[in-house]
Amino acid sequence: MRVGILGGGITGIALQRFLRHPSEVLEAAPSIGGLCRTYWKDGFGYDLGGHILFSKNERINQLVDDVLGDNLNRCRRANKIFYKGRFLKYPFENDLAALGPEEAYECLIGYLKHSHPPPRTNLREWAYHVFGSGIAEKYFIPYNEKIWNISADQLSLEFVERIPKPPMEDVVKSALGIPTEGYLHQLYFRYPRTGGTESLVHALRRPDGEVTTGYRVTAIRRTGAGWEVTDGNTPRTFDRIVVAFPIHDALPCFESVPDDVQRAVAGLRYNSMRIVLVGVHDTSLMDFSAVYIPDPSVVTHRICAMGFFSPTLVPAGKSSIIAEITTNPGDGVHELSDEEVTRRTVADLHRVGLVDKAKVVTTDVTRLKYGYPVQDLVYTRHRATLHAWAASLGVPLCGRFAEFDYINTDECLRRAMALADRLNAEA
Ligand SMILES: Cc1cc2nc3c(=O)[nH]c(=O)nc-3n(C[C@H](O)[C@H](O)[C@H](O)COP(=O)(O)OP(=O)(O)OC[C@H]3O[C@@H](n4cnc5c(N)ncnc54)[C@H](O)[C@@H]3O)c2cc1C
Repeated sequence: MRVGILGGGITGIALQRFLRHPSEVLEAAPSIGGLCRTYWKDGFGYDLGGHILFSKNERINQLVDDVLGDNLNRCRRANKIFYKGRFLKYPFENDLAALGPEEAYECLIGYLKHSHPPPRTNLREWAYHVFGSGIAEKYFIPYNEKIWNISADQLSLEFVERIPKPPMEDVVKSALGIPTEGYLHQLYFRYPRTGGTESLVHALRRPDGEVTTGYRVTAIRRTGAGWEVTDGNTPRTFDRIVVAFPIHDALPCFESVPDDVQRAVAGLRYNSMRIVLVGVHDTSLMDFSAVYIPDPSVVTHRICAMGFFSPTLVPAGKSSIIAEITTNPGDGVHELSDEEVTRRTVADLHRVGLVDKAKVVTTDVTRLKYGYPVQDLVYTRHRATLHAWAASLGVPLCGRFAEFDYINTDECLRRAMALADRLNAEA
């Protein structure tokens, strides 16, 4: 059985690693990696958004340790929140005393009164119920509305499954100024010593694995018991195929897709992104993994210091940040040129004191069409329609935008492994 793996992001590359059947990965870009790629400009390396490797699944942690070997580093998170001109520890509810007595009181009393009913449908209701009005209004809702570029009452409760609820003891201690740590599952993370996140994908790549880059799949056709896939020039035939590239681009490649499936996929909302690199001539931007910025007047919602992740990502004596910006057509940012979005990012960060524009020596912008799948109120229904159709064709979908699921690399790896196990069991 020969398997065609369509898409050479971390999911497609990992799937090939674990398959016992012969396979070929077909990747549209000139190199593998997808969202895990690391870009370089003037000696500054940057990922497509701050990428930390963490998993609750020990099999995945072991895999990362094994493939990275000597290139593995373990880091302790140093995240901050930039709120009204000062830094708080992350997550917000673990550093309430830093807000000062009045705001800390507002947050604590709102949390303890627990006066909002259980959520029925959306993230806004959930935030008020779990955190109370202080934390919800000061941080949780503004930050999430920025990153998701949508009103909190349009985000479904599916999204909250991955958000840890703080123990009451922690919230009370934090309001009193007693140190606590939240989101413990990602307090420590793995990261490659050199080469950025992309080096994990290269480490996963099987030495004898057939991978064709520069091959953009444009059509997928059933041929008897198998499939023909083409980029318009050099068709390939396979017994099985796996879609590991964004479903919004994959669907038009198939012949005669039912209307309800087309409508479902058209209704699956995603956020595009701009990742802006800002390199400076000194080492002032080295000491944090991420700064979360709920302030809606600053275009980016999060910046990450690449030199914190690995000093090899910045030239000696210099440092950098990447700014993550969520954007969609019509929002005024999507329409900006790369120069304009860079100018706006640097100006905003300079204004609030996070980056000194006089120190900037390098900038770069990478555009991501598919950054975040948005779990809005119709997401579950549309996604179910898509998955039922793919199952009826016998075509597995695997990965973040193929399955259309808000998953990180660890879950991509787990699902690639599970799919390989299933296909390996077939003759
Ligand atoms: C801003 C941001 C921050 C993130 N932070 C983290 C983090 O901290 N930790 C973490 O673990 N994960 C993080 N992630 C998630 C992680 O990057 C993804 O889950 C993972 O990289 C998805 O891999 P994938 O292979 O499923 O999809 P992709 O990486 O999207 O790969 C799909 C591949 O298909 C190719 N392709 C597209 N069209 C075609 C075509 N027509 N024919 C052939 N090939 C095609 C693409 O070029 C791409 O290489 C983050 C993601 C973003 C955007």
